[in-house]
Amino acid sequence: MQFLRKDDPVIADLAVKEEIRIENTINLIAAESHSRRSIMETLGSIFNTKTIEGYPGKRFHAGCIHVDAVENLAIERAKALFGAEAVNVQPHSGTSANLAVYFSVLNVGDKILSMSLPHGGHLSHGHRASITSKCFDFRHYSVDRETERIDYNRIREQALDFRPRMIVAGASSYPRLIDYQAIAEIAQEVSAYFLVDMAHLGGLVAGKAIPSPVPHADFVTFTCYKTMMGGRGGMILSRKAYERGINRAVFPGCQGTSAVNLIAAKAVICKIADTDEFRQLQLTTLELAEALAARLQELGYRIVTGGTDNHQVLVDFTGKGITGAAAEKTLESVGIVLNRNVVPTDADTPGAVSGLRLGTAAIAGRGMGTAEVDRIAELMDEALRNADDEAVLNRIRLKVRELCAQFPVYGGPDMADAAA
Ligand SMILES: *Cc1c(COP(=O)(O)O)cnc(C)c1O
Repeated sequence: MQFLRKDDPVIADLAVKEEIRIENTINLIAAESHSRRSIMETLGSIFNTKTIEGYPGKRFHAGCIHVDAVENLAIERAKALFGAEAVNVQPHSGTSANLAVYFSVLNVGDKILSMSLPHGGHLSHGHRASITSKCFDFRHYSVDRETERIDYNRIREQALDFRPRMIVAGASSYPRLIDYQAIAEIAQEVSAYFLVDMAHLGGLVAGKAIPSPVPHADFVTFTCYKTMMGGRGGMILSRKAYERGINRAVFPGCQGTSAVNLIAAKAVICKIADTDEFRQLQLTTLELAEALAARLQELGYRIVTGGTDNHQVLVDFTGKGITGAAAEKTLESVGIVLNRNVVPTDADTPGAVSGLRLGTAAIAGRGMGTAEVDRIAELMDEALRNADDEAVLNRIRLKVRELCAQFPVYGGPDMADAAA
């Protein structure tokens, strides 16, 4: 970063510190993954220059010959990768993608049925703090109290009663597979559109590690930076019949210019995702999540739903005298980074956050295996049991460092720079 170092040494220093933090901590944040260098190069490339409005061949500024080729490649590769009839690669984020889907076929005030936030849903699915709740009339479905899994019969009852114009499936914290076909049938029965928000699962679906919602849904949205590993931003897959409506809803409906550097990174990750290496990495991510849930369970932790089918593990501390926030803080202090999260039992106590959400995409990406996962679970347990003992926490901190050093994320020349 020689040029940045000259223009702004403060930001350059922070970037180096951030890289050191990433190298020296175990990243269990379910909404993150480590991008490959090729993605980083693309994001910081010359494609940052071009201002685009509109779509390839129909732009509002001249000079789009090469960026049109980039966007067309992103679209064609995403269509092939996901088996989608139509693709929009311009959304700035998952939330932008969802907004565009809503506005593509709904009117302000229309009814939408989606998963409630304390049960795993997302802010952009009509949470009262989100603009989505001001634009549309949302009702929410919950998970079953006993099984902590989606109760499809209950969704059907709610749909028959509420008569939504759209049903949304997909979650930010739900460790089990969703029966898309069951919800598609309900949507059909009540003549509702069906949106699947697979934000967390994009990479797992692209890598064919879990079933795809694409055959069942009218619209599928996802973010490119979670299991997909492709830089920031979002994408919309849809049936051909909705292509024009979606394109209009994204631009000029919900967004202005899109980011060509992000679109280029989306093209690159769609190429990478069609390799055995990528597919293997997604399978490893699943294997590590299963191992993490199992080991934590052996150590006495309650895992929501008793396990996982995806990259997420939800730990519930309810009744253990520890909050999600306290656990997050203790673990961050030893270099294990994750986030506190609501768990289904919190739904009855507004404001309570009694759990942790863990994900294994980032540790799989740096080459860790099940032996390391066991070790991580044990270090987490030791830290949580000794949260007030600085000497123990110090020892754990060193062990985390050692583990990270064996599995460098990048270990590039910036590190040598930083040491100098
Ligand atoms: C992460 C996530 C999003 C994300 O959106 P951003 O706007 O990119 O933060 C949308 N939906 C779900 C279910 C998510 O988990």
